[in-house]
Amino acid sequence: QNILIKVRGLKTWYPIRTGLFKKISGYVKAVDNVDLDIYRGEVLGVVGESGCGKTTLGKSILQLIKPYSGEVRYQFHDGEKNLCTMPKEKLDNVRNKLQIVFQDPYSSLNPAFTIFGSMEEPLIRFGMKSKSERRRKVAELLKEVNLPENYMERYPNEFSGGQRQRIGIARALSVDPEFVVCDEAVSALDVSIQAQVLQLLIDLKKKRHLTYMFITHNLSVVEYISDRIVVMYLGHIVEVADTDELFQHTLHPYTKALLSAIPIADINQRRKRIPLQGDVPSPVHPPNGCPFHPRCPQCMEICKRVVPEPVTQIRNGRSHMVCCHLVKQQSEKETV
Ligand code: SF4
Repeated sequence: QNILIKVRGLKTWYPIRTGLFKKISGYVKAVDNVDLDIYRGEVLGVVGESGCGKTTLGKSILQLIKPYSGEVRYQFHDGEKNLCTMPKEKLDNVRNKLQIVFQDPYSSLNPAFTIFGSMEEPLIRFGMKSKSERRRKVAELLKEVNLPENYMERYPNEFSGGQRQRIGIARALSVDPEFVVCDEAVSALDVSIQAQVLQLLIDLKKKRHLTYMFITHNLSVVEYISDRIVVMYLGHIVEVADTDELFQHTLHPYTKALLSAIPIADINQRRKRIPLQGDVPSPVHPPNGCPFHPRCPQCMEICKRVVPEPVTQIRNGRSHMVCCHLVKQQSEKETV
């Protein structure tokens, strides 16, 4: 498969400053030592409870948050480049390739500007000098997200949440990106509107050959839209597999607990609910060993001391990665 982005050893740690001289007394380890490949043309879902680091991971890949260390290697047409070490001016020049759609499109639409005013700003930044050309482009973009072109004269507060999100998507697409992070992009919408916006994202992906990182806490949404799913816990990736594989052969105890909470109407299809004990521990003082061990119903002695290494299983030619001592021990027994 064609890799678009290689993330290696990515750490996004926020310093905690205390005392009169604001000395660094520790770090919030929001993303801790993440390795990940993102394939060109895929929808990669990222799930986990709030505070697990999924939004920080997305923003760190886009360099909207500067990582503490590690690499984000992007495959440009003239070769692979590490975005983390790219000078700001160069990064600004390639930023059109990497865009984000937020949960709340208000964050990218200035309430004081008409839709045209908000949407022309990235076009100007990326060199579209002629106003008539910008108007034509904005009209095309609005049409692409199924909105009338005369909406460009109106203000954000005149639109419903679903319409605003369509405008947010059109704005992100205005600079012809290759990679789009959708951060809880449908979470604030009613269920019926969610389905329409998801379908729009799928249609645009096909038409424009986009790659999505789809961040959400909604497992039903992620199952619907994703080709592959990453499960995060306390800044770490704990499981990665193709969507069907992850749902049918769930390996990590945390993922099992998450999936058991999905509401399913058919009583015969429901999973036995696995309650998650307690809260996610503080990323300032993460537990030793497996980060999930204080909440894991299957915790063993080794889990409290040793960080589990990634184990990859291959089923039907597809790889399934998990970080868990129990899974490792079980697969070793099976191969004996
Ligand atoms: Fe549970 Fe141990 Fe596996 Fe962590 S490594 S998920 S504590 S069984």
